[in-house]
Amino acid sequence: CADSAMYLAKESGRNNYQFFTTELNVRAQHRYALEKNLRRALTEQEFLVFYQPKVCLKTSAIVGAEALIRWQMPDVGIIPPDEFIPISEEIGLILPIGRWVLEQACLRAKYWRDEFFPDFVISVNISPKQFQDPGLFNFIQQVLNETKLPGQGLQLEITEGLLMGELDLLLPVFTSIKKLGVSISLDDFGTGFSSLSYLQRFPIDNLKIDRSFIRDIPEKQDSVVLTRAIIAMASALGLSVTAEGVEKTEQLDFLTDSGCQEMQGFLFSKPLSASDFENLLISHTPKS
Ligand code: C2E
Ligand code: MG
Ligand code: MG
Ligand code: MG
Repeated sequence: CADSAMYLAKESGRNNYQFFTTELNVRAQHRYALEKNLRRALTEQEFLVFYQPKVCLKTSAIVGAEALIRWQMPDVGIIPPDEFIPISEEIGLILPIGRWVLEQACLRAKYWRDEFFPDFVISVNISPKQFQDPGLFNFIQQVLNETKLPGQGLQLEITEGLLMGELDLLLPVFTSIKKLGVSISLDDFGTGFSSLSYLQRFPIDNLKIDRSFIRDIPEKQDSVVLTRAIIAMASALGLSVTAEGVEKTEQLDFLTDSGCQEMQGFLFSKPLSASDFENLLISHTPKS
């Protein structure tokens, strides 16, 4: 091995030897530092929730928002979730992080419903790992009680991957969550390998078409056809559809013509801090 220096390292306490490259070593150190910083971030309150508006295509009104976590790391800046959520899932930190996001998001949603828009719905991403937590349902119920947000004001965004797990264990959790009035959205729809039969077996309310389809509209005929098909299927099954990643007016026009109900994307707004989002809500809500 000419270009990557190999080390012979002895695992502490055991008599077995492992080869690993300097690159792996560096990665392990980086990873260790990241884990340590992540644990600190939670206790030092370095996380923030950003909000990206969801807009009704018919009325152009802001009908809700997706809560998206950010990590404001001292001396470093804002770190996006793709860089720390997967690791948080691996080390179990996603449970406290997920709970914190849910609390924050429900608190804000309750306030925004009272002040600006009584039907405002907050969408919160829930990782499959959180569904392995037997306390998930009780926690959701407790947050709704404490924040006084009615269940109808909360939507959970799950991914297709979750539906490939132990369905028999999952279904009762879903059913009890739905009894609270909370709705369920299937995020990044079209990118997983889920069998469409899940749509029959699970009490899903909304399909969120993945950004990768929307991105290539109107240039790529395949994306146009698939998006139209997803909207038609959803409507036949009685599900609403949200398009994510809408960046161009052509995409907005196409989605409106195709019967999509809601959109989210940079064309309307990027995810915003709570106060910036609130200013947007104020300027966007008709005065009564
Ligand atoms: P997601 O749930 O699919 O969220 C949508 C992502 O698309 C967000 O990225 C959003 O900023 C981005 N986006 C929205 N509109 C546009 C657009 O027009 N153009 C482009 N290029 N991007 C757009 P973000 O905030 O970086 O989040 C990435 C992923 O991290 C999320 O994907 C979600 O899977 C995960 N995530 C974020 N917050 C949480 C959280 O609180 N809990 C969990 N479990 N996962 C989270
Ligand atoms: Mg999402
Ligand atoms: Mg998504
Ligand atoms: Mg995504």
